[in-house]
Amino acid sequence: MLLAKRAQLLKPSPILMLAAKANELKAAGHDVISLTIGEPDWATYDSIKEAGIKAIKDNLTKYTPPNGIPELRKAVAEQISTDLGVKYEAADITVSTGAKFVLFSALQTIVDPGDEVILIAPFWASYSEMVMMAEGVPHIVKCGADSNFKITPDQLRKALNPKTKAILFNSPSNPTGMVYTRDEMKALAQVLKDHPRVIIISDDIYNRLMFKGDEIAPHILHVAPELKDRVIVLNGASKSYAMTGWRIGWAAAHRDIVNAMSSYQSQSVSCAVGASQYAALSALKSCEPDVKNTRNLLQQRFDFISSELKKIPGIIVHEPQGAFYVWMDVSKYLGKSCDGAKLATTGEMAKALLEKEKVAVVPGAEFGLEGYFRLSFALPNEKAKIAAERMGKFFASLR
Ligand code: PLP
Repeated sequence: MLLAKRAQLLKPSPILMLAAKANELKAAGHDVISLTIGEPDWATYDSIKEAGIKAIKDNLTKYTPPNGIPELRKAVAEQISTDLGVKYEAADITVSTGAKFVLFSALQTIVDPGDEVILIAPFWASYSEMVMMAEGVPHIVKCGADSNFKITPDQLRKALNPKTKAILFNSPSNPTGMVYTRDEMKALAQVLKDHPRVIIISDDIYNRLMFKGDEIAPHILHVAPELKDRVIVLNGASKSYAMTGWRIGWAAAHRDIVNAMSSYQSQSVSCAVGASQYAALSALKSCEPDVKNTRNLLQQRFDFISSELKKIPGIIVHEPQGAFYVWMDVSKYLGKSCDGAKLATTGEMAKALLEKEKVAVVPGAEFGLEGYFRLSFALPNEKAKIAAERMGKFFASLR
């Protein structure tokens, strides 16, 4: 056997695969609209690009410390301390190649074989694979529309057991855009206080992309700062600062955890690209006005795409409070047929939609909850309009 068991079990990222399939069709001359990938369509802000270019010109092009340059760790510590109202220092931070890898290293650092990690479905598709790569067991709690796809204290209480090592929160959520209120966080924190062994990973990657009300999403540390030692705060530059390709992410946590994560990073990727780190430093220092503009743009785009999608009979658009995804209930159409072929799953439905109308979306099953599509609305309104019209045509054609 050529491959190790680990590699045999591993699924490629379905979202990146779908995006690649859409690009393939585009390259073959089809007019495809892809609503798959969680990536801003606007450029990295100019001041950030200039900081990156300057770093290269200044020959800051060598290895950096595995946990990131001290200036960036200090800036991250300051930002998190301000955002969450809990004091962090540079030594509590590790920076590496995107939040995805930082999360991967966190799970490798804390999960032993057989440990359970609670995942709140629907969840970002990579969570379960990463838990399994750490030889952990995803303990999936399905959360439906009745709780706005959020875990309730009762569900949490039932899921926690002696094997639970961690729980992963993501608010605003990918794929639903739902945000836990302070009161909801408080109630969950209350339950977690009775389970002192459990580590709380808070994936805050969308926490600055809030639409209404708070500028920073409510956080478990806002309401329960005493949990600080067992919270891993995860964030990065990709989404807030339109820096997906620069690959900068970070975590703040108990020093034993960040030090172990840094060792893991030093033995795998060595360090994040130096120029990217200087660029991210500039983003943290000067791009809050840009983020504010982005927030307004996203709100306006959501209002637009949701008004277009609502024209399609039988679908339900769940209004997000942050991030840039529409979580759309298409379950009414499950079981219908497209050109004689029955669409039993949203996977089959998404495939038929791409083939017939050249619109790419991600099926809900990829996030652990069937019956939904996730659409990224990080695209211009003109394109969103065409995509919604094509979807309307597709659904109308199902029998
Ligand atoms: N967490 C969530 C929920 C995400 O959606 C993503 C990216 O799609 C990430 C983490 C990772 O972001 P990056 O690795 O680009 O920093």
